[in-house]
Amino acid sequence: MEQTSVFERLRALSRDLWWTWQPEGPAFWEALDPALWRSTDHNPVAMLAALGPETAAARARGLGDLERSHHAYLNDADTWYARAGKPIGGLVAYFSAEFGVHESLPTYSGGLGILAGDHTKSASDLGLPFVGVGLLYRNGYVHQHLDADGNQIAIDVAYDFEKLPVTPCLGPDGGPLSVGVPMGDGVVRARIWRVRVGRVDLYLLDTDVPENAPQQRAITARLYGGDNETRIRQELVLGIGGVRALGALGLRPAVFHLNEGHSSFLTLERARQVLAAGEAGSFAEALRKVRGQHVFTTHTPVEAGHDRFGPDLAWEHLRPTAEALGLSRPAFLRLGHWPDETDPNAPFNMTHLALHACDRYNGVAALHGVVSRKMFQRYWRETPVDETPITHVTNGVHAPTWQAHQLATLIGRHAPVGWRDCAETDPSWERIEAVPDAELWQVHRERKVALLDLAREREADRRARLGLGGFPDRLDPDALTIGFARRFAPYKRANLLFSNADRLRKILDEAPGPVQFLFAGKAHPADEPGRALVRDVYRASHFDFLRGRVLLIEDYDMELGRALVQGVDVWLNNPRRPKEASGTSGMKAAMNGAPNLSVLDGWWPEGYDGTNGWAIGEAREYPNPEVQDAADADSLYRLLQEEVLPLWFDRGASGLPHRWLRLMKRSIATVTPRFHSDRQVRDYVHHLYAPG
Ligand SMILES: *Cc1c(COP(=O)(O)O)cnc(C)c1O
Repeated sequence: MEQTSVFERLRALSRDLWWTWQPEGPAFWEALDPALWRSTDHNPVAMLAALGPETAAARARGLGDLERSHHAYLNDADTWYARAGKPIGGLVAYFSAEFGVHESLPTYSGGLGILAGDHTKSASDLGLPFVGVGLLYRNGYVHQHLDADGNQIAIDVAYDFEKLPVTPCLGPDGGPLSVGVPMGDGVVRARIWRVRVGRVDLYLLDTDVPENAPQQRAITARLYGGDNETRIRQELVLGIGGVRALGALGLRPAVFHLNEGHSSFLTLERARQVLAAGEAGSFAEALRKVRGQHVFTTHTPVEAGHDRFGPDLAWEHLRPTAEALGLSRPAFLRLGHWPDETDPNAPFNMTHLALHACDRYNGVAALHGVVSRKMFQRYWRETPVDETPITHVTNGVHAPTWQAHQLATLIGRHAPVGWRDCAETDPSWERIEAVPDAELWQVHRERKVALLDLAREREADRRARLGLGGFPDRLDPDALTIGFARRFAPYKRANLLFSNADRLRKILDEAPGPVQFLFAGKAHPADEPGRALVRDVYRASHFDFLRGRVLLIEDYDMELGRALVQGVDVWLNNPRRPKEASGTSGMKAAMNGAPNLSVLDGWWPEGYDGTNGWAIGEAREYPNPEVQDAADADSLYRLLQEEVLPLWFDRGASGLPHRWLRLMKRSIATVTPRFHSDRQVRDYVHHLYAPG
């Protein structure tokens, strides 16, 4: 009896991902069974199922304390949103094809998803009335294996939803709640799942239900998997199914936020509902009624990042919706075109639909705002580019998720309570200067040792799998450790560091001490140039002079991401400006005291102040990418040789690099307040959800 109730309490806690960002949360679950903790990808729901009530209850330590903080969190009425006078006047529904909340919920591939997860957590922390809407993928996103030649092998895992932190939503009859989504081959059913993230919910849709035909069940199999047809069908489930799901749940949002164009079809379903209710006489009138509630965030200046569908494919699947809206094929296709498009068979562009059917738009950093205004000016022809109505909200990251709690605790001993939430101008930030160098160094070193352990573990698993010999392990916690982790898309130039091997060799040979580089990142399985880059970096790690000094770690995910940003000494970022809309991993590293060595792209022109890291290259654009690559590589080598290495190896009598420690403190103090996702969500509230 007693044991059952402890088990039920554990189950309840395991089903709110709130635990993932509490300092004591992960350790609480790990203590139940460290081996299971690792083999389940840190998934308490799966752990509890494997352990059973008696074992789990017998091993739980500190349950009451964790429950008390959970209860206090959920019942705190004094939130930022309440203090701000609840400015939105209703619920925000945030639509995204991916949500990266934690490694145990495989609904993300990279930056876009992690941004959505961080936005959701901050919405919870700030007390916003908020729900997320997304998809639940049977196979998640691909895992990455590297074979003995550095080829990326995509590994597909089928997840058992019973063992994920998701709960089926039930209908009035007690059965699973689902909605119908009209497509070319009839109405597809999508079941609704709920994920608790503190005070807010995520609703995820999945089509793998018995009522659907096999090809319909496979629609939500893989995030960004399948062909263009699968893609448009997923986007119908997300957009149209998502709006219907909210209705089925009895929710009536005041704001619909489209996190990228994948969910643009939601605008059509909203217009259809207005028409069906007899509240408008035409599509145009219906759209005028709803578009004031639609906010669109664009995330990339790279053309391939904007979904486009052939006109026949779009018409095949949207025809039932267009007919319900009274739209002919040409009238429907025009919604996905530039207004001045003359080719009636131009592809249907999801970004154009969003521009057409939303009222407010933004990019994700100041520079990206400028780039987006240029990119989309054609939409507003007569308007000068500076007055193109696209603003920006610079991205942020959820500090409690990404900043090592050991570091936060250390700073908390020297700074006032609530320091992490202080405004950037608050003098509390100066108090970071008061943290003794030796203590900061010690805490950082422990994170570095933990990172090297994880790197070693993944590499050992890989070698065992491939039957390769032992790992020539030279990973060294005393070496200057430079990290580079991101999606391997060509514009991110993962191989820039190796573009002049002789020069790199000379720098490392002349360095006063050891330097090592850790790389991680997946290429999209269909991105051949990206896969070639993975191979390039892998091969570079086998150059004689780099052996044991460069390691490409498999399967970049949130666990590895956290370990990297918390454990490296420098964060390297060298995209081809201005292609990186924001980038967020550098913010995470900076909050952990790893200064950025970065091209002035994305967020870095706003973050860099001359005292908190380095700027690679110049704040300019190049007409010729080869010239740009050569100039940036030259700048990167020069900075390494003349600034980064000398500062790191400059040790005082105590053996500590005091000037470097000052840089670490500047990095933490300048980046944490300005690039916390709480600031980002507050900006969305004031400028996009509830503008003046
Ligand atoms: C933060 C993060 C990203 C996004 O970072 P970028 O700087 O945009 O590349 C991608 N993947 C993981 C696992 C992350 O933690």
